[in-house]
Amino acid sequence: HLYNILQELRGNIRVFCRIRPMFNEEAKCTIDYIGSDGSLMVIDPAKPQNAGKIFQFNKVFGPTATQDEVYRDTQDLIRSVMDGYNVCILAYGQTGSGKTHTMCGPLNRSNKDTGINYMALNDVFQISSIRKDVTYEICVQMVVIYNEQVHDLLQIFGSLTGLLIFNYKSTLEIRSCSSNGGLSLPDASMHLVQSSADVLDLMKLGEKNRAFFSTAMNHRSSRSHSVLTVHVHGKDILDSTTCSCLHLVDLAGSERMDKSETTGDRLNEAQHINKSLSCLEDVITALAQKNPHIPYGTSKLTQLLQNSLGGNAKMLMFAHVSPEADSYRETINTLKFAQRAS
Ligand code: ADP
Ligand code: MG
Repeated sequence: HLYNILQELRGNIRVFCRIRPMFNEEAKCTIDYIGSDGSLMVIDPAKPQNAGKIFQFNKVFGPTATQDEVYRDTQDLIRSVMDGYNVCILAYGQTGSGKTHTMCGPLNRSNKDTGINYMALNDVFQISSIRKDVTYEICVQMVVIYNEQVHDLLQIFGSLTGLLIFNYKSTLEIRSCSSNGGLSLPDASMHLVQSSADVLDLMKLGEKNRAFFSTAMNHRSSRSHSVLTVHVHGKDILDSTTCSCLHLVDLAGSERMDKSETTGDRLNEAQHINKSLSCLEDVITALAQKNPHIPYGTSKLTQLLQNSLGGNAKMLMFAHVSPEADSYRETINTLKFAQRAS
């Protein structure tokens, strides 16, 4: 009961900021301080004598925060998914700010430092094994959205000399799906998973395909959104069922391309990314302002995430920041948007 009250108090939208370590200790840093109350101050490196700008979030993770610490503040959302809520966890920020680090981590053999995706799935199985009165079925899908087209990252078409072939040319439709009352990707391959080891294998395949896809399409993977969706079906002893989903989203880099410097394919790409990220920003801002009209229909990403954004659904966004002075402008853009969302 107390747990539910705490959940209510937290609200349905949470915004955390995460600042990654400096790559070069010699470089100038824009972050002046990080408060334990979720505030931080940013200094303009061009005007260090001026007062810094202060931003406020639900929590700020500094450069020394570990993956485990970050996950600890995320964990209760996984319990919510198992209770039947739809949940969306988004990684936002400029390229190189640590989005993939937070969501995936290095995906190495030792499983050290793995990110939220893996730890969340681990907890899904943990909770499922503890709750003896509910039987759960867990399935995952993983897609990439690039230039307003959706591609399955887990479809295996066949293999040639042991290498998996990823058919990056086929695209998927987002359609309304009566079984869960929302929009989804009925044609994306759905993988029943029994353990976190199964999930890790799929995530590695997905990451490999994402890399292959970016090479084939001649773009950097930072130019696409990747979405790992976990479908949870629970059935209790009285045969009553719950159906919920968890979207784990590694967004395209939020840096805006300068139109004057961009041409051809790059310009097309930049416009698509700008459009889909600004649609997402509009949806999140409208939700935060409790605006009655939420503009979901304007991009593939917001259509896909629709049933986990708004209503009873719970959202957590990580605003990622690169602390170096040369990222100052993007840092301010990221923090301004993230503060609007919270
Ligand atoms: P993005 O996905 O936003 O483009 P990455 O997650 O790839 O950024 O991070 C860029 C680089 O910084 C990677 O080499 C990553 O391992 C490293 N990195 C990011 N965040 C952290 C962190 N919190 N601690 C240590 N290294 C990090
Ligand atoms: Mg990345």
